[in-house]
Amino acid sequence: MSDGSDFRVTLLGTGVPIPTPDRFGPCALVEAGDQKILVDAGRGATIRLFQLKIPIGRIDVQLITHYHSDHVACLPDVWLTGWLASHFGTRTKPYRVIGPTGAKRLMGNLELAYADDIKIRHADEKFPLSGIATDVTEFDADGPVYEKNGLKVIAFEVDHGDVIKPCYGYRFEYGGRVAVLSSDTRYNQNVIKHGAGANLLVHEVASARPELMKEAYVQRIIAHHTVPYDCGRVFTQTQPKLAAYTHLVLVASNTVPPPTVADIVAETRKTYEGPLEVGEDLMSFEIGSTVIVKRLMP
Ligand SMILES: [Zn+2]
Ligand SMILES: [Zn+2]
Repeated sequence: MSDGSDFRVTLLGTGVPIPTPDRFGPCALVEAGDQKILVDAGRGATIRLFQLKIPIGRIDVQLITHYHSDHVACLPDVWLTGWLASHFGTRTKPYRVIGPTGAKRLMGNLELAYADDIKIRHADEKFPLSGIATDVTEFDADGPVYEKNGLKVIAFEVDHGDVIKPCYGYRFEYGGRVAVLSSDTRYNQNVIKHGAGANLLVHEVASARPELMKEAYVQRIIAHHTVPYDCGRVFTQTQPKLAAYTHLVLVASNTVPPPTVADIVAETRKTYEGPLEVGEDLMSFEIGSTVIVKRLMP
């Protein structure tokens, strides 16, 4: 079995719409062999790739989980900056996007929105149009969405709320190992089904202090996500070699502070006793016979 350095998940952004510098918008990088897959592109994704010294144009596939703006806010930046000829860009082939229904409309509208930039850079800096073209695949059901060089990616629908559809998580299979990313979801049986046997299960989490839970808008936010107690139930039922949190929805107000990471862990421990990490930006997981956690944030 490999030491895991050939199959790695790095959390580029573990945040939510809150514009904090500590946790950038939702984004994860999955590396399998020489392939690099970006899952969502939340605020700051390009900055994190630059910190990792990975040219933005080096991304082979952009996956999208759903169309909440915080998950796709940096998509135009990944697409456009990845086209620049400088060392941090370098893409000369089309930007490959795979997502649930809506991906074609999003990319088509971005092409309209940025048409002037594309025209100018092509005429002025002579960047090839092949590097700014898009190659978009949509899907509308559970199943494989990508397969290449031993990497298989399976999309599975999750439950992010009655009107927040479509929304999908992803399961990555590579060399007999499995990493699963839940996307945004409530407690959901499909995550348990597709998370079964995972070496790494990365799950979202949301929490608010009891005094804030009286507010209707807070109840609405929490109802779209999974509280730590229920995340623990998911982990106990899937038994991953390592469970990790990302997308920390820590609800606060002007007067009520957010729950702490320790609060979230304590709640999780009521229903789950196994290995658990609370994700941080630039935390990486090397998936071998064990999962090795590395923190890259300076
Ligand atoms: Zn969402
Ligand atoms: Zn979200």
